[in-house]
Amino acid sequence: MSHSQSAIEQPTGSPLTTFSEDEQMFRSSVREFAEGELRPRVEEMDEKAKLDPALIRQCFELGLMGIETPEEYGGAAATFFTAILAVEELSRVDASVGVFVDVQNTLVNNALIRWGTSDQKQKYLTGLASQSIGAYALSEAGSGSDAFAMQTRAVDKGDHYSLNGQKLWITNGIEADIFVLFANANPEAGYRGITAFVVEKGFPGFSIGKKENKLGIRASSTVELILEDCKVPKENVLGEAGKGYKISIETLNEGRIGIGAQMIGIARGALECALAYTGERQQFGRAINQFQGVQFQLAEMATELEAARLMVYNAARMKDSGLNFVKEAAMAKLYSSRVAERITSRAIELYGGYGYVKDYPVEKYWRDSKIGAIYEGTSNMQLQTIAKLIIGSK
Ligand SMILES: Cc1cc2nc3c(=O)[nH]c(=O)nc-3n(C[C@H](O)[C@H](O)[C@H](O)COP(=O)(O)OP(=O)(O)OC[C@H]3O[C@@H](n4cnc5c(N)ncnc54)[C@H](O)[C@@H]3O)c2cc1C
Repeated sequence: MSHSQSAIEQPTGSPLTTFSEDEQMFRSSVREFAEGELRPRVEEMDEKAKLDPALIRQCFELGLMGIETPEEYGGAAATFFTAILAVEELSRVDASVGVFVDVQNTLVNNALIRWGTSDQKQKYLTGLASQSIGAYALSEAGSGSDAFAMQTRAVDKGDHYSLNGQKLWITNGIEADIFVLFANANPEAGYRGITAFVVEKGFPGFSIGKKENKLGIRASSTVELILEDCKVPKENVLGEAGKGYKISIETLNEGRIGIGAQMIGIARGALECALAYTGERQQFGRAINQFQGVQFQLAEMATELEAARLMVYNAARMKDSGLNFVKEAAMAKLYSSRVAERITSRAIELYGGYGYVKDYPVEKYWRDSKIGAIYEGTSNMQLQTIAKLIIGSK
């Protein structure tokens, strides 16, 4: 895969859903993997709340863990849009693997590609493309939407920083080797003291705390991180000290498009199930999709999905084109998470009683959809961003 396969290659005025040859090939290979390797494991992974290590290895082998990473660091050097397609295709089958790949690419790799020194890139990006798993640690028990109120502190000790505090809700935390982690190194300066660090799981004073038992995306690990005089070398500051707030805002702006992709993948998976089931299920002597009431519901689901998909694709293409995409990313995440919740809920109703039990796939899609309104900024936070950008702040 070459760098030249970007959206810019698309002929001017071509539909958003038209893919370049490379994009098409990549999408088909991810779909084949999702259908052949992932689908048979989904139920058990959800039940056990654990990703199958064999699948993780396959994600690396397929090049899914370093999609935008430059070739010199062992990545596929593809576009952001390509990463979005991967998250969508994986989430169509299992949103836990979707977010596993999403966090690695849109948050961790992106932060390193953009702000890493060449030494950091050599050391960490190369590993992240071949075997290391990354996590992104911003939230704490007392600071979620108000992320800059974090209490984790970093004290300058000359050749290293000493970090103390706890992070909460950290996706990929069980599997991760490398954490992009935020701490305040100068609390008097307020948010301008926030600094990003690359923390290895083996650093002294770093440990994993409680693992959450969740409603949805159960196979994706969500954990607490504990930092007790955690010794982080100075060369592991990512970007400039005191500029962590900027790194977190900008990575999450991109990350939101990834969550949008996860949501349209979930919605597509549920809609496909509903289309198949309503064609088979017989009531009153005919397939239930022969009733106009059911047909209209399916038509509405398909229309809403199409709208959400266009929003996600457009935001991703804007990002690849170097345009300002912040408003469009917030809108795409807000809308696609609402659509995913509605479509998966309707899919359950179209299955009737069978939709409510774990023998059928749709209840899981609904459980998995709920997270879209919460992480990487709640729906209210997206509305706040959109409002600020359309009204202007004084
Ligand atoms: C499964 C899962 C995985 C996660 N993964 C990660 C991860 O990998 N890394 C990471 O750093 N974090 C992660 N998070 C944390 C996530 O980003 C936060 O949960 C989210 O930002 C919300 O913060 P909170 O839970 O503290 O809720 P709060 O901020 O307390 O919000 C509670 C409610 O108040 C509303 N609210 C708050 N402030 C305002 C306001 N000013 N105006 C209007 N409404 C407001 C919110 O919209 C929400 O409805 C994850 C969370 C979950 C559940």
